[in-house]
Amino acid sequence: MTQPSDKALVPFVSVDNMMRLVHHIGLEQMITQIATQIESDFKRWESFDKTPRIPAHSPHGVIELMPTSDGEAYGFKYVNGHPKNTSEGLQTVTAFGLLADVYTGYPTLLTEMTMLTALRTAATSALVGKYLAPKSATTMAMIGNGAQSEFQCLAFKAMCGIDTVRLYDTDANATAKCAANLQGKGLTVVACKTPEEAIEGAQIITTCTADKKNATILTDNMVGPGVHINAIGGDCPGKTELHSDILLRSEIFVEYPEQTRIEGEIQALDSDHPVTEMWEVMTGQAMGRTDDRQITLFDSVGFAIEDFSALRYIKNAIEGTDFFEPLDMLADPDDPRDLFGMLMRAG
Ligand code: NAD
Repeated sequence: MTQPSDKALVPFVSVDNMMRLVHHIGLEQMITQIATQIESDFKRWESFDKTPRIPAHSPHGVIELMPTSDGEAYGFKYVNGHPKNTSEGLQTVTAFGLLADVYTGYPTLLTEMTMLTALRTAATSALVGKYLAPKSATTMAMIGNGAQSEFQCLAFKAMCGIDTVRLYDTDANATAKCAANLQGKGLTVVACKTPEEAIEGAQIITTCTADKKNATILTDNMVGPGVHINAIGGDCPGKTELHSDILLRSEIFVEYPEQTRIEGEIQALDSDHPVTEMWEVMTGQAMGRTDDRQITLFDSVGFAIEDFSALRYIKNAIEGTDFFEPLDMLADPDDPRDLFGMLMRAG
């Protein structure tokens, strides 16, 4: 018989263990494997419960819960977005997440998700890039050189054949950090002084900035035909990155329209402006890029199924390893109705 204490212990992946796991598997390999998991979950889109994430806004930032279930497993992520945090020496985005068994409701995994969010966001961006970016793309402009940026660059290298990244950030120290971190990682890295310089010759433009306002990271005249834009920084009401004229010239692709219309670049457009859902492109029900001159825009906000895929990936990856600690976070008395007796015996 399983000991009650064994039954109730939940595997917990700390930040340290997540970092060990990434080094064990290899960063690019892990991003690629998470992308495969996301793609297979997007291909069974209809089997998931879906809801726009649940935000708690404040003048300081936002705290969000992102739940979903496929009927067998349930997952959620807790994540914040506080652009002002970096000026106080704190992260803009931190997260943790949980997976549970739908049959018992018991948690089956608790994990840090700050690292994992960077990995899954990069995996999603590059996966979408595989469907939408020009096949001949070799150069990506990376605008916003903060916490997510290196992960984005390496994901596009691993999955879309990018060999050159052109970096720009309003803070030159962020660009210098990103350039230094990417040394020796198999990319030609060009640090740029303006966004215009960064997009020169780039077939893919990634915008990943953090500012709680309707910013204009790209203006219409900066975006030429045939470019793929991977816009990931605009992910909250009143927090966008692109001039609306770009949206009007682009074929727009989204994760889950009900959430993107609230949070994405398309909040600037009419609520019935046509968009294509990426799961439909992945299942062949909708077209991705159709010609060389088309501007494709991935209006990314980050959706719960991507986190669910990442959580399931981690749960499998840690099985039979020591990349986790068993966590005593669930009271589970021998007699399920005797919670009180369990408490008294502990005294
Ligand atoms: P970060 O604060 O570490 O980095 C943001 C960088 O943007 C900073 O270096 C800042 O100097 C720079 N920046 C701000 N305004 C700029 C401008 N006008 N031009 C160029 N650079 C500018 O944040 P992060 O963790 O890298 O996240 C970046 C953004 O991505 C955030 O807004 C976050 O909410 C969003 N995000 C989205 C997803 C998703 O799934 N779509 C996932 C994670 C993070």
